[in-house]
Amino acid sequence: MNTAPGPTRWPLADGRDLLFFSLPGHTAAPVTDLRPLPQRGDQQSELRFDRTTGQWVIIAALRQDRTYKPPADACPLCPGPSGTTSEIPAPDYDVVVFENRFPSLSGAGGTPSALPPAGDGQDFLAAPGHGRCEVICFSSDHTGSFAGLVPAHARLVVEAWRHRTADLMAREGIAHVFCFENRGEEIGVTLSHPHGQIYGYPFLPPRAAVMLREARAHAERTGANLFADILAREMAYGDRVVARTESFTAFVPFAARWPVEVHIYPNRFVHNLVELAEAELDDFATIYVDVLRRFDRMYSGQLPYISALHQYADTDEQRDGYFHVELMSIRRSATKLKFLAGSESAMDVFISDVTPESVAKRLREL
Ligand SMILES: [Zn+2]
Repeated sequence: MNTAPGPTRWPLADGRDLLFFSLPGHTAAPVTDLRPLPQRGDQQSELRFDRTTGQWVIIAALRQDRTYKPPADACPLCPGPSGTTSEIPAPDYDVVVFENRFPSLSGAGGTPSALPPAGDGQDFLAAPGHGRCEVICFSSDHTGSFAGLVPAHARLVVEAWRHRTADLMAREGIAHVFCFENRGEEIGVTLSHPHGQIYGYPFLPPRAAVMLREARAHAERTGANLFADILAREMAYGDRVVARTESFTAFVPFAARWPVEVHIYPNRFVHNLVELAEAELDDFATIYVDVLRRFDRMYSGQLPYISALHQYADTDEQRDGYFHVELMSIRRSATKLKFLAGSESAMDVFISDVTPESVAKRLREL
């Protein structure tokens, strides 16, 4: 597939950006957004620093008013040809991205990573919740899903992820770009229209920081990349591999934390989607949809899942980071969900009821 042309940019009524990514032969035809939206400006969340864990917490109280499970005919992610009903004022679209109207992070600012020196009186350390929160609609079909996308359409979503990654990574004050999807009411999704989100965090998230720390220690010990070594061992072992293409491998990790957990790695080291070649991006779209379809064949209904794209910048701090996707589900049987209770929520110790090898075998056969 050739490189897609750039997206069409369109302003929403309150000044937010809307980007249309179109399939070959399709042209975006937006109309004026006529909704009387309040202008933005005072919607700033707050970062608060937890000194006991060294982690930032986002306090975004304004999000309480966000759209909650609207009826299908009032879906803000369906096309709105009149310009009065939807976040996407257009008769139709393929893939769109826009700034979240109820963002956890917004506005530009510095990275709040530098702690003030001890004893300066700032026991309670806070900072404006600067950063970026975007919504990505995978399709205009309200009842569709990522797993149901045809190859060219899935590839277009990948192109949109890649575009947003390059754009946000280049922005001042954004330390980490996180593309993800929450799918299913079981995990708290408030809009059923197929969509994902893209966060530009102003700090390195804790899980990324831990992985980079482990990868650095591994590199200093062995001279090799931790993620590349893990992939090589999974491929040699084989029992946890779920699917494989020329450029990508999907496997259940050795120490899987979730009842269903699959990681997808490129077969060569890259930091992020931007560093992948066209043929590799095609391959990525293919294996990603393949894994999601296996998920939906596990039980009678659609599997609720979280999909997390781990991407890194080519900087000193993040140079050992190896692009990969981590998919996880809380469904542990046809009728039971895994809840994060005492051990998981309070102590970060996961207890799994299934062996990663048996889950991999099942997913391979589906
Ligand atoms: Zn919809």
